[in-house]
Amino acid sequence: MRYLSTRGTVSQGSSPAFSDILLGGLAPDGGLYLPESYPRISAVELADWRELPYATLALRILQKFIDDIPACDLKSLTDRTYTARTYRHARPGCDASDITPLTTLEPGLHLLELSNGPTLAFKDMAMQLLGNLFEYVLAKRKETINILGATSGDTGSAAEYAMRGKQGVRVFMLSPHGLMSAFQRAQMYSLQEPNIFNIAIEGMFDDCQDIVKAVSNDADFKAQYKIGAVNSINWARVLAQIVYYFKGYFAATQGNDEQVSFAVPSGNFGNICAGHIARMMGLPIARLVLATNENDVLDEFFRTGVYRPRGTADTWVTSSPSMDISKASNFERFIFDLVGRDPAVVRELWAKVDAGGSFDLRGTPYMARLADFGFVSGKSAHADRLATIRDVWQKHRLMIDTHTADALKVGREHRAAGIPLIVLETAQPVKFAETIQEALGCDPARPKDFEGMEELPQRVEVMPADTRRVKDFIVAHCQAGQIGQ
Ligand SMILES: *Cc1c(COP(=O)(O)O)cnc(C)c1O
Repeated sequence: MRYLSTRGTVSQGSSPAFSDILLGGLAPDGGLYLPESYPRISAVELADWRELPYATLALRILQKFIDDIPACDLKSLTDRTYTARTYRHARPGCDASDITPLTTLEPGLHLLELSNGPTLAFKDMAMQLLGNLFEYVLAKRKETINILGATSGDTGSAAEYAMRGKQGVRVFMLSPHGLMSAFQRAQMYSLQEPNIFNIAIEGMFDDCQDIVKAVSNDADFKAQYKIGAVNSINWARVLAQIVYYFKGYFAATQGNDEQVSFAVPSGNFGNICAGHIARMMGLPIARLVLATNENDVLDEFFRTGVYRPRGTADTWVTSSPSMDISKASNFERFIFDLVGRDPAVVRELWAKVDAGGSFDLRGTPYMARLADFGFVSGKSAHADRLATIRDVWQKHRLMIDTHTADALKVGREHRAAGIPLIVLETAQPVKFAETIQEALGCDPARPKDFEGMEELPQRVEVMPADTRRVKDFIVAHCQAGQIGQ
């Protein structure tokens, strides 16, 4: 499998291997990596895959994209990652060994539980695999890596739980100071492993993301300090997320002539990007329903053709905070496909975005093509979230989190007769207990592993939104000693 950059320059020279991309993050030209083409899944394969357990399904799909890790090693990695023990926080009555159990709300309307992993959010689905992939590839190469990431909550904890104690890996995780829930803060900042560093930035998520980009764009620093990424621009994360679209499809259908739609609560466009790729591979997906919260930059694009990233000052702090994003870092991957994979067009569009501007596809041939990709969209605000959480509780005695509520609200607006809708459940309600309390007047149950977590001592460094300061911190802690000792 050859990989290229959405901005075009790496395809000319030598094409990087999967393992290089895994460790590298952004392409050198500032673009995002994608496979040269998407493998098409034959009807025979789709039929063979229907009954596979999650780990084996993951292996089959990953093998289509990874040719520099021997199959037996990849099998041991997927077997070790997707275990009922790791994804043990399933709803009562659901089978944890399904990894992503399907819960039916009513005929044709389902929840796919992606939040049963160690940090109770869907990012564990990919991140746990990344932790094992990193350790494997680094050990083989006798290398180390310093992972630099930005998080609005769930990415950071998922990354840290996946990388804690892993040989050869340090994690430097930036989060917006004071903007995460108490639960999210405790999850990250209470980790005591010496290879985990939490940095709270006085700013918004986008300030954190900008610092990560600035450090990664400094080629000398990046090379000297072996900076890698695990935020959702990392291709391996998108790749790992493709698997549960297949798993969800099989769980909600009887045969492969049926179609389904997915409703996806979206922020950085990583989750739904995996759905887009599953659809391009031939999975029978009718619609990809993109849901945003009040930060509706993606909904605006799919309704109008105008992509207008907001400034930090125009980004709302909402009760579905993992979607409080003004620029969607994976969106470039979809636009690359939309414009017929022409990197010159992507470069032109992102020259505007990177300069703080917007782009407008109205009146271009790309607008007509947009419909072929199956996307529809909508937004959900705080009052919708509360109403949806209440409705599901009253009708089904199920508690859903705020992000899942956004997806369900928008998904219902786009239901089509005869086509099952699978709503991706991306977090457990306990992570956003304040809003659950507001909606239902009671607290969500807390899994035993998480009892008393907020009282544990926390390790975090507060810093202004200043790239220099973050670099100095990394340098100081790289000199402080070898990792893995
Ligand atoms: C990250 C996250 C999202 C948004 O996913 P993207 O891949 O950024 O679009 C939605 N819900 C939850 C709970 C998340 O953690």
